[in-house]
Amino acid sequence: MSRDPHCIFCKIVHGEIPSVRVLETDRAIVVMDVAPVVKGHVLIIPRDHHEQVRDLPDDLAAHLGSLVPRVTRAVVAAADAVGSNTIINSGKVAGQTVDHCHWHVIPRLADDGVDWPWPSQEYSGDEKSRIASRIRRELDVSAD
Ligand code: 5GP
Ligand code: ZN
Repeated sequence: MSRDPHCIFCKIVHGEIPSVRVLETDRAIVVMDVAPVVKGHVLIIPRDHHEQVRDLPDDLAAHLGSLVPRVTRAVVAAADAVGSNTIINSGKVAGQTVDHCHWHVIPRLADDGVDWPWPSQEYSGDEKSRIASRIRRELDVSAD
């Protein structure tokens, strides 16, 4: 099992820092976020330490993803919510504050006061197709 001795979420996984757990599997725990965006906000945390989502092995990512619908149903019911956000912040620039990859599941209520949407941009010229080509190349998928 990979672990970082300085990581707060590794300490939570190993029971060295208290947390309120709502679900445990062999590869992940689900805990109440200590400072919820909306009450009922939980974190799906893999037991192994991986810094960002791009570092996750595919099978672990699949396991974490497989928990999302079930956890979301429970969170939405418990919060009397009507929707939810599932979000992974990756990297400081994207708002990640704990460098142990985790998935937020946040219940949403009509009057929760949380701002959405994010701002949007427009592509110019062939920018969109150039970036798409680069992504396909990085994915090792042949261009169309
Ligand atoms: P990030 O900003 O990295 O995407 O999210 C980190 C989340 O972890 C935040 O929502 C924050 O409230 C939560 N958090 C930080 N420290 C603790 C802790 O000690 N226990 C729990 N349960 N949540 C924490
Ligand atoms: Zn960790």
